Amino acid sequence: MNDLEQAKVVLLGDANSGKTSILQRYIGKTFNNHSSPTIGSTYLTKIVDFNRKSIKLCIWDTAGQERYYSLAPSYAREAKVCMLVYDITSKDSFYNLDRWYNCIKDHLAENVIIVIVGNKHDLESKEAVPVEEVKNFAEIIGAMYMRTSAKCDTGIEEMFIEICRELVGND
Ligand code: GDP
Ligand code: MG
Repeated sequence: MNDLEQAKVVLLGDANSGKTSILQRYIGKTFNNHSSPTIGSTYLTKIVDFNRKSIKLCIWDTAGQERYYSLAPSYAREAKVCMLVYDITSKDSFYNLDRWYNCIKDHLAENVIIVIVGNKHDLESKEAVPVEEVKNFAEIIGAMYMRTSAKCDTGIEEMFIEICRELVGND
């Protein structure tokens, strides 16, 4: 029997963008309006069956505070999936993705899957950055672009399915 395939997944992005909430929704099926800031990092796993294959996602949720930028490369190393999360109502959180990306780009595996995640889709009426601009950035860095709402549970399951599809295809 084959060993279970493992894939390291990291979430990066500013504090308050919803990284922890996305994972709570995906793994715990819950949402907390007052989730507390992640200190350092948290490690979670989930086994996903995809196309008759099982993949063990080993997911690192990082703290987004600026003082942790310097730690980003060590998270990103050997990651198969790197999720860059921003809050669609916060311009800064989007523009800082460039900074996050620049911190890690020299440490990424060649076939890493990068996903730009626009979270808080339920607050679409307060969207702060034109979608075209986000898509442009995604194209420049070779990333997929996904939108989610951890609050309303939209786009999250779909996003991870898409990621697993890419992972299986990347073998
Ligand atoms: P993190 O610092 O990136 O881990 O962000 P958190 O997951 O702690 O979320 C920060 C805040 O945004 C919390 O108050 C969450 O309840 C809220 N939040 C997270 N996701 C969403 C979402 O999809 N929609 C809305 N409206 N709020 C969200
Ligand atoms: Mg967090």
